[in-house]
Amino acid sequence: MALIVQRPLGTADVTPAEIHKWYTVEQIAQDTAQSYGFKEIRFPTFENTDLFLRSVGETTDVVQKEMYSVIAKESKFTLRPEGTAGTIRSVMQNGMLNDALPQKVFYITSCFRHERPQAGRLREFHQFGAEMIGSSSPYADAEMIMMADNFLKNLGLKNIELNINSIGCPKCRSNYHKALRAFFEEKKEELCETCHSRLEKNPMRILDCKSPICSGIAKDAPLISDYLCEECSSHFEKLKNILDSMNIKYVVNPKIVRGLDYYTKTVFEFITTDIGAQGTVCAGGRYDGLVEQLGGAPTPALGFAAGLERLIMTMEKQECAFMPSQKCDLYIVTMGEKALDFAVSLANSVRDEGLIAEYDLMNRSLKAQMKYANKIGADFTVVIGDNEIESGKANLKNMATGQQTEIALDEKFAETFSIQSISLELEGEENLFN
Ligand code: ATP
Ligand code: MG
Repeated sequence: MALIVQRPLGTADVTPAEIHKWYTVEQIAQDTAQSYGFKEIRFPTFENTDLFLRSVGETTDVVQKEMYSVIAKESKFTLRPEGTAGTIRSVMQNGMLNDALPQKVFYITSCFRHERPQAGRLREFHQFGAEMIGSSSPYADAEMIMMADNFLKNLGLKNIELNINSIGCPKCRSNYHKALRAFFEEKKEELCETCHSRLEKNPMRILDCKSPICSGIAKDAPLISDYLCEECSSHFEKLKNILDSMNIKYVVNPKIVRGLDYYTKTVFEFITTDIGAQGTVCAGGRYDGLVEQLGGAPTPALGFAAGLERLIMTMEKQECAFMPSQKCDLYIVTMGEKALDFAVSLANSVRDEGLIAEYDLMNRSLKAQMKYANKIGADFTVVIGDNEIESGKANLKNMATGQQTEIALDEKFAETFSIQSISLELEGEENLFN
């Protein structure tokens, strides 16, 4: 087949054969977030470009290289490259900061970044994110990290390493910036063009540069941990104590700086080595300055986002259990038009019981209908012909065992079938989630 237009590079389709994997991750994300008292928030796919310039930061890779922006009738819009900016804008615009704090919200949404597509790196990808606005307590940092950790465990993932760091506040940052400038100034000629301008405006961004030369030089750069102020360092100590007491394993990695400008104090990443180079499955941190930067009163906040594609890749690699894919509870095999008419109302009564019922729409032979029922994984079939309609009885066939039981084709059919179907489900329950 010569398909005339194909999907854009760096995008992906999710076919019905794979959708159960997405349902699994989305359901567990929602359940986990709700168990910590987070509620879902939804916000637009595109925002005014200014929102991302002000929040993500003008010297970041995301803003400088990766945003999809359009000018429409003189306004400039950008497809969201991440969810935090839209969430905070929405929380502020809807007056939620006037309500009782902290506000705790989550989202499951698509993001768009113009990156070089590779395994685990797409141009349209999906994030489960959570944001907590209003608390400056290190217990809030611990709560977010525990929630992310709990989410990954609920997915059944193993061997995920948690890395944490503190990147301080504007107060500690000013001394650190001086030290970084002094360090990079000496190697200025070797830095890439983007980092040249970063040297003046935001030298920490050089630490996050993907160019091998810049990242090579950055290896020996001064560490932020040596420049933390009293408050930031005691906040970080307290967080580590809480994590220790909750038995959450972590590695302090003084090299994590995160790719977005709004972070302060705690930053963290959950990393797997099972899916190659793009192994960060979840990342986040505190961003105490963001609300103020967007025009609100100073309000501490923090959050994380997990990449759903990378999570599913890791789950596949680690052979984690997914929800079963959608099957058919009852396939009604029909012989003749009278039987088909009968099947239509029989199927509807089964659907009213909350079960999945289907029948032939292709005018197939009995044999071909049975074959199709098998193919779609029907749990039960029932054959309806003139004889069955006349006698008011039919044989219900359990497709897994081949066992047949007589069932009355009366007004109780759907209820009787539902009981059979539930008992089959109970038998198989242990196999659904290991
Ligand atoms: P990376 O270092 O991998 O580029 P990042 O720091 O840019 O990640 P964040 O902005 O923190 O990523 O986004 C949170 C999570 O979203 C990442 O940890 C990752 O799991 C996922 N993610 C980010 N960019 C992509 C992408 N282009 N394709 C797929 N997943 C992504
Ligand atoms: Mg990135």
